[in-house]
Amino acid sequence: MSNQLRDLFDNNRRWAAATEAREPGFFTRLAQQQSPRYMWIGCADSRVPANEITGLDPGEVFVHRNVANVVVHSDLNALSTIQFAVEHLKVEHIMVVGHYGCAGVRAAMRGIRVGLADNWLRHVHDVRLRHRRRLDHLPPAQQEDILCEMNVIEQVGNVALSTIVQDAWARGQPLCVHGWVYGLKDGLLKNLEVTMDRPESVVGVFSAALKRYPRHAAAGSEAEGDAYHEADTVVGGGTLHS
Ligand SMILES: [Zn+2]
Repeated sequence: MSNQLRDLFDNNRRWAAATEAREPGFFTRLAQQQSPRYMWIGCADSRVPANEITGLDPGEVFVHRNVANVVVHSDLNALSTIQFAVEHLKVEHIMVVGHYGCAGVRAAMRGIRVGLADNWLRHVHDVRLRHRRRLDHLPPAQQEDILCEMNVIEQVGNVALSTIVQDAWARGQPLCVHGWVYGLKDGLLKNLEVTMDRPESVVGVFSAALKRYPRHAAAGSEAEGDAYHEADTVVGGGTLHS
């Protein structure tokens, strides 16, 4: 084994010993059952580790990560993870967490080809197209930050409209879906205030969030739709866009 990998095992032994010393029985307890209250859906970026950022121990947050924290209704990997979290672990909070400086969002924003992932990032590109009138009038650097936020808002909507979350709410199971963004430069989380906690909250929260990103004055009023149906119509388990 290379020295580099040997270091990882050395680190692991030190960490396990320190954890057990700090909290005797920690691993024995965890091995018997996990009961996290939180599910984190974040970017795969190595700089955004869910547990460290939130100060949570193993066993406290159930994590799903992919490139650019995207949740689409045909992704059985994400949906299976959400289903397990909601129906078996009974998590109370699902947070979709994007981050500023996301390479996936930047590629979608600038049309940079990266390979196979282009097809995955097409989902983020679609978010950009849908909201281009709220983005195009901003300076380039700000466009990327705002697209990071809008991508989170869209994914929060997708999680909330999934059959899993809709069914949980129909059963009366307490479950909130949140949208956050993490700052690589300061290590701080920002709450985008798009928490959805029941079916009736989805459209209102989504519409109110969009209005925080004004269109260019020349681009028309809030009441006007556009070619990409940036409308706020919905729902009953439907779509956020007409
Ligand atoms: Zn990222």
